[in-house]
Amino acid sequence: MKFDAVYYEPDSLSYTLGEQLKEQFSSLPWIPIASHNSIKEMQEKPNSEFGRMKRNLIIGIRKTHKYEENHKVSDYLVPYTSSGCTAMCLYCYLVCNYNKCAYLRLFVNREQMLDRLIKKSMKSVQPLAFEIGSNSDLVLENTITQNLLYTIPRFVEEGRGKITFPTKFDMVEPLLGLEHGGRVIFRMSVNPQPIISRIELGTSSLKQRIQAVNEMCEAGYPCGLLIAPVIMVDGWKKLYTELLEELESGLSAKMKREMFLEIILMTYSYVHRAINQDAFPGAEDLYDQERMTGRGRGRYCYRPEVRAEAESFLRAEIKRILGDVQILYIS
Ligand code: SF4
Repeated sequence: MKFDAVYYEPDSLSYTLGEQLKEQFSSLPWIPIASHNSIKEMQEKPNSEFGRMKRNLIIGIRKTHKYEENHKVSDYLVPYTSSGCTAMCLYCYLVCNYNKCAYLRLFVNREQMLDRLIKKSMKSVQPLAFEIGSNSDLVLENTITQNLLYTIPRFVEEGRGKITFPTKFDMVEPLLGLEHGGRVIFRMSVNPQPIISRIELGTSSLKQRIQAVNEMCEAGYPCGLLIAPVIMVDGWKKLYTELLEELESGLSAKMKREMFLEIILMTYSYVHRAINQDAFPGAEDLYDQERMTGRGRGRYCYRPEVRAEAESFLRAEIKRILGDVQILYIS
């Protein structure tokens, strides 16, 4: 991964990871900032700079550690070691939170965050599941920080319950030999390859993702697939049927036997439209006036009748092509 510059909170250099990053990226300009949350120089840039802004690496200390309840694969969403990402999916949910400042931020106080997570896991009466990848892509992040190599063995050894994270990347090789005790749920996000090529810019191909999830499953990790987000572009039914056929032929027998599915229909927003129009002028507009409706705070989602049609189509096609695979939810 190539970066142009590092913006950093000076205190982050007193952490082990901060020191490591300083050495790793010593050839780049290092620009001190007061807070990773408000870099004036970035905030003032026009939307057309969105892609170039993602070529910067931001390093800071995470100060907010509030866990949010969640009722899907996990019980809690945990703010963890990064937010943002270097890829540029045109619908990226993080743009809703960070606007054009959705660049990759690394938080160096990982010891503090994992201590807290372990403590919380030990305090609960029932074993809990914690989603640690809701703010970024940890497989991508791991290629820079090795934070998953730090997190997985320590959580498994000292904590209780499970951790989970989703990804759109295939760089799983370093994770394969880790002691995970079956307590790390790996979730690979998939979409038809034409959608990956046109919309999920800078992520791994479908073939690479299928291979990666097969390898994780073979290594004993409980694995699932996220068909997400489902985007109803022209010809979407054919595209998703082809995706399911590719999954049927590419996934290992073990994966097909053990996996679960999560399906999420796309949410889009006014902010995405504004940024994408300026930053990716040739890209297709994902806003579909016919099929979408407002969802509050400038967000759009597919209309209820459109969602119902998509849901019944996907359920029938999954059953026809993949058989009785467990579908946790369609939302
Ligand atoms: Fe956003 Fe995930 Fe795409 Fe990165 S990979 S741009 S975090 S949706």
